[in-house]
Amino acid sequence: MARLQLARRTERLKSSLVRDILAAAVQPGMISFAGGLPAADLMPALPLAATADAGLYQYGSSEGEPAFREAVAGWIGETGLKVSPDQVLALAGSQQGLDFAAKLLIDEGTPVLCEAPSYVAALQVFELFGAKILGVPLSADGPDLAAFEARLREDRPRAVYLIPCFQNPSGACYSMDARRAVAALLDRYDTLLIEDEPYRSVALDVDQPMTPICALLERAPWIYLGSFSKILWPGWRMGYLAAHPALMPHLVRLKQAADLHTQRPGQMAVAHWLGSEGRAADLDGLRSGYRLRRDAMQTALQRHFGDIADWTVPRGGLFFWLRLRGELEATRAVLDQALAQGVAFMPGEAFFAEPELGRQCLRLNYSRSTPEEMERGLALLARCLHEHALA
Ligand code: PMP
Repeated sequence: MARLQLARRTERLKSSLVRDILAAAVQPGMISFAGGLPAADLMPALPLAATADAGLYQYGSSEGEPAFREAVAGWIGETGLKVSPDQVLALAGSQQGLDFAAKLLIDEGTPVLCEAPSYVAALQVFELFGAKILGVPLSADGPDLAAFEARLREDRPRAVYLIPCFQNPSGACYSMDARRAVAALLDRYDTLLIEDEPYRSVALDVDQPMTPICALLERAPWIYLGSFSKILWPGWRMGYLAAHPALMPHLVRLKQAADLHTQRPGQMAVAHWLGSEGRAADLDGLRSGYRLRRDAMQTALQRHFGDIADWTVPRGGLFFWLRLRGELEATRAVLDQALAQGVAFMPGEAFFAEPELGRQCLRLNYSRSTPEEMERGLALLARCLHEHALA
């Protein structure tokens, strides 16, 4: 074959540890805490009748179906972020919004500030376009504000990427104080915010308001990303963004250049569900199912990891984030041994632009295992960690 001549940016498309693990995790018999798949058995049936109109199978508009944009503007409004339908763009999953944000904002060497740890596929796309990823340490209720301000002041990032509700991977959920403080700093340093919220609706026990930071900004520009993947079937690839009006024309052109428009039947099904009477009951059912699984994982973790790790019980989202104590490390060697014994997990290093920061961390998904699998899988995993510490 002739030599492949590829764009220089492909050199930055690293082979992903995550892909390798997910491939191993689907082997028959594997107990997998690795992926982030929502629980299919808890999802409501999609209103397929809403997709029956043959007219929907013709090309549509790049911005999205008017009914979808209208319904989504209302859905976003319920969070406290008031947007008009003109500010909504239908996406093929919120991942597409991350791709657009990267194309819109990142040149070679552009500094982008992210939480450390952060969402792997966001880091991946930002790096593909040449971003210099800067990290800010994160605790259970928000970022380290002194470090955040120092980064804004000293490094002048062009954009800040945050996941303030039930963060992937850490489960962190920003307090209102943290949200206000972050918004004030972004305004002060005039820095664009990309706020990503796929887990907002997977709220299990929340006793505080979770106003989007975008709603608290007075001058800084913003892009707000949302998704139906965690509540209404990820295979439909239904996501959306809302943005500051000045950014919308650019984002619509990026949508045209990427895929012309998002599939129309899915938009109509989602719009129908958003307007349906059963919506609140569907979400309640989903949350109760997740709550039971989250609690089962917590019980099994206390038994097998209580002496060797620290964690905060997640109040939403799909993950537990563990920090190992003492000399214990969740290295690639531990992962290989765990996979050989039939348990998959996600090593912390995958979630950091500087992987060594994650050596003592691991992410565990709780939404897809039975209590019995949790018991067995966590016992095996704890044993692998101990054996490696002794070796
Ligand atoms: N952002 C975050 C933080 C995520 O965890 C995910 C999915 N794992 C996405 C975006 C993308 O979701 P989707 O494209 O399915 O909407």
